[in-house]
Parts: sequence; C-alpha cells; structure tokens
Amino acid sequence: QFHMIKYEDLRWSESLGQGSFTRIFKGSKIDIRDGERHVTDVLLKELDANHKNCWESFFEAASLMSQISHKHLLLVYGISVHRSKNVMVQEFIKCGALDLFLKREGSVSVSWKLDVAKQLASALNFLEEKNITHGNICAKNLLLAREGDASQGSSPFIKLSDPGINLAMLGRDVLLDRIPWVAPEVLEAPERLELECDKWSFGATLWELFNGGQAPLQGLDLERKLQFYETYKQLPSSEWTELADLISQCMNYQPAFRPSCRSIIRQLNSLITSDYVILHAAEPLPD
Ligand code: ATP
Ligand code: MG
Repeated sequence: QFHMIKYEDLRWSESLGQGSFTRIFKGSKIDIRDGERHVTDVLLKELDANHKNCWESFFEAASLMSQISHKHLLLVYGISVHRSKNVMVQEFIKCGALDLFLKREGSVSVSWKLDVAKQLASALNFLEEKNITHGNICAKNLLLAREGDASQGSSPFIKLSDPGINLAMLGRDVLLDRIPWVAPEVLEAPERLELECDKWSFGATLWELFNGGQAPLQGLDLERKLQFYETYKQLPSSEWTELADLISQCMNYQPAFRPSCRSIIRQLNSLITSDYVILHAAEPLPD
C-alpha cells in the first residue's frame, strides 16, 4: 500500500547520520509532471544491510504513513528498491528533530512547548480515532517544520515521524534501551501493541519536552532500566504540579487507567492559564 519510486529518480546528497536500523541522507526526487521536471527535497532512509530481514516491517511503516494524512504526521512519498537496497522516501523537514533542537536552543518558552505538546496530542487523537497505534513516539521522532518565534507571535509546527521497525521484530536489548518511552506492558508482549502504549510514550515525550530535550534515564544500563519498571518508578516530576500530574497519568503502569486523548487535550488546554502563574512565581517578590 505505498507508492514505488524509481531508484533512478532519486538523487543522494549529504549523510545526516544513522537511525536505529537505518542510514539517513538528504536528497531529492525528480518527477516529470505535465512534461515539466519537478525537483523535491526529500529525506532518504536506507535500511541497514544487517537488518534486511526487517524489510517487511520497514515497508509497513511506510505504508502506514502513506495511508493516513494529518497535518502533524510526516508525509511519506514511498519506497524505492534497488538491488538489495530498501529506501524510504519521505518529506524533508528543515529544522530536524525536536530533541536536538531543544538541546541546541536551551531556553524555549513555556507556551512554545505547550504548542508542541498540543500538536502531538492532536496527531495522537487522530490515530486513536482510526484505532492505529504508532509505537515509537519520542522527541527524536518529532520533526520541527517551523521553529516559530514567540517574539513575533508565530508558533512552532511539528510532524510525527514514521515508527520504523515494529517493536515485535526488535530484540530484547533494543526494547530495554527504549525505556522509558516504551510502555512497560510492551516488554511482556511486544506483539500486542495497544493504543494505550502511545499514551505512555506521550508522557515520556512530554517529560523530554519540558526538560530541554535531555533523554530521561540517560546513562542507566539496560539492567537498571529494567529495574526502573520492575519497581514501578516514575520519572522525576516537574515543579509544575498540573504538568507533573498529566505526565504521571499517561505513565500509569496500568494501561486502562491512562487518559483518553480528549482528556489529554483538555488538560493541556487548561495548562495555559497556569502558565502565567508559573512565570510570575519565578520572579523574585519585592521586599
Ligand atoms: P527510529 O526508527 O528509531 O526513529 P530512524 O531511522 O527514524 O530511527 P532517527 O534516529 O529517528 O532515525 O533520525 C535520525 C536523525 O535524522 C534525526 O535526529 C533527524 O535529525 C534526522 N531526520 C529524520 N527524519 C527526518 C526528516 N524527515 N527530515 C529531516 N531530518 C530528519
Ligand atoms: Mg525516527
């Protein structure tokens, strides 16, 4: 269920590094439409040679993204196959991944972060209505199409990237490494991905967003990460009580108790008013 793109129609430029099982390049795609030559910037994701057996799952991710359309979901143009090469061709997003942006930028306003959170929640709501589980929500997989500038009153614009290879195909170590984004119940049964898993990941992503893009539990080895779940631990909570509460609702160890997307959106909307309280509380009081 995806468009096949001719390998000859692709141009490869600089490498943008590696993903979990992929090598990532900037490039372009040539189309002839109405006798005219069109060139589109694209992102090329080439599946690693040593993960060839995962190609079906890789194609499935591409197919999923091609079938659904939402302003906060990344556009996937199609798949290109050449000899043993499997390449996902997708929209190129100028400002790159959100985690890197947050680390680079340092200080970003609360309302900027809330905008991003609401955009992700609206994408999740869309997926929930379609009964689709994404399975790989994290700040790294949020791409920043527009930075936005609070002083000019323009907001950021994010797009959720493809989930990549299905969790059920991944080794135990990869799953453990994805703690705390991967929901605890997934470790027990990775083949049974439910909508609630994405709520957990949303909570962890919200945490990243409000902690400058730093990876939660960074530096813990796999054994310690596993212990974190086995002892029902929670990430360090924010001083902003309402935010901390929302994150802990999402990261509830019992999937059934996690909030619906409607409830998440409602809570995010009500955070705006508290925004001011936080900002003013941070100012020193006059003697
Ligand atoms: P995973 O399946 O774990 O998400 P991946 O193959 O998607 O792995 P990432 O680690 O998510 O790879 O992406 C690697 C880097 O590539 C990101 O940090 C980002 O900077 C860049 N990148 C990914 N997708 C795009 C895109 N569509 N446009 C621009 N840059 C991108
Ligand atoms: Mg990714």
